Amino acid sequence: MAKERIKKDVVIIGAGMAGLTAALYAGRMNLSVLVLESAIVGGQIANATGIENYPGLPNVSGKDLIAALQSQAENFGAVVDEFDEIQRVSLKEDPKIVETEEHIYEAETVIIATGMERRKLPLQEEAKYAGKGVHYCELCDGHLYQGKTIAVMGGGNAAVDAANFLTKYADKLYLIHRSKLRADEASQQKLRENPKASIMLETEIKALKGSSKLETVEILDKSTGKTETLAVDGIFVNIGVAPHTELFKDEVELASDGRIIAGEDCKTKLPGVFVAGDVREKEIRQLTTAAADGTTAAILAEKYISNKKRGKILW
Ligand SMILES: Cc1cc2nc3c(=O)[nH]c(=O)nc-3n(C[C@H](O)[C@H](O)[C@H](O)COP(=O)(O)OP(=O)(O)OC[C@H]3O[C@@H](n4cnc5c(N)ncnc54)[C@H](O)[C@@H]3O)c2cc1C
Repeated sequence: MAKERIKKDVVIIGAGMAGLTAALYAGRMNLSVLVLESAIVGGQIANATGIENYPGLPNVSGKDLIAALQSQAENFGAVVDEFDEIQRVSLKEDPKIVETEEHIYEAETVIIATGMERRKLPLQEEAKYAGKGVHYCELCDGHLYQGKTIAVMGGGNAAVDAANFLTKYADKLYLIHRSKLRADEASQQKLRENPKASIMLETEIKALKGSSKLETVEILDKSTGKTETLAVDGIFVNIGVAPHTELFKDEVELASDGRIIAGEDCKTKLPGVFVAGDVREKEIRQLTTAAADGTTAAILAEKYISNKKRGKILW
C-alpha cells in the first residue's frame, strides 16, 4: 500500500528540550507542526532528577519538566509522534521530504533537534551509579561536589576543561586518562599548576565500587601493571559524545565531531532547514541553550514560510 503523503509547515525531528520548545513556538504561531521522536520524549533529560538550574523552577525532575512542555506544545496544536521511525530525509528539495515507516511528510521547513549521547565507560556498574556518583555534565552536577574528592575521566579538551572547572568545587580532583592528554597545552598547564589536581596518565579505570552510591574506583597503572583503589565521592565521565546525525550526513554540513554546523540563527546552509539544541555545533549545551535554539529556529521558520508565500526566499 502506498504511504500517505501529508503536508506540514514544520517537521521537527527529535522531542527533547530543543524540539519541544520549537514545537511550542511554531504551534503558537498557527503553523502545522509535527514532532517525530525515535525513542522516548524528553531526550537526555527524560530521567534526570533534581534539575536546579532551569530558570524559575528551583528543583524539578526531567520527567515533570518535559511532561509540562509536551502538553504546552500539544495545547498549541503540535502533534508528537513517537512511533513512526524516519527512514529517509531529502532536505535539498522543496518541499523537504521526511519519509517514515508509515508516511511521507512534505515539509516547508525542517528543524533538526536530535541531540546527542555521551559515551559511557565500558563498565557494567556504570548504570548502577548513574546520578549516584557517576556524572557526565560538570555544569549540571559539579556543584554537588563542594569540598569533595572527585575524578574526571578523559584526556581531550572537554575533559581537561571540565577538570579545570570542577576544581572550583572539589577539594581534590584526579584526572584519569588511559594515554597521553590531547587537550590544548594552555588547559593542561592550568590543571598542572592547580594544587588540588593530580593527573594520572596511562591509567585505566577497571571497576566502580560502592553500596547505594559510588565510593571507590579501581584503576590500573598500565606502565607498572599495578592496581590501585581511589576513594572518590564522584566521577565525571568525559570521553566523547555521539551526536545523532547519521540520518543527515549527506544533507547538511557536519563539524569534525559530528555535530551540524550552523550559527546562532540555527540556519544550516539549506534554505528552510534549521538545527537546534545539543546537535548544533556550539560551546554551551544546557537545557536553557536548547530551549533558546528551539525558540530561534521556530521563529525563523515562521519568517521563512511567510516570506516564501510572498514569493521571497530570504536565507
Ligand atoms: C544525566 C544528564 C543530566 C543533565 N542535567 C542537566 C541539568 O541539570 N541542567 C541543564 O541545563 N542541562 C542538563 N543536562 C544537559 C541537557 O539535558 C541537554 O543540554 C539538553 O537536554 C539537550 O536537549 P536537546 O533537545 O538538544 O537534545 P536531547 O535531549 O538529546 O534530545 C534529542 C531527542 O531527539 C531524539 N532523536 C535522535 N535521533 C532521532 C531520529 N533519527 N529521529 C527522531 N528522533 C530522534 C532523541 O531520542 C531525543 O529524544 C543533562 C544531561 C544529562 C545527560
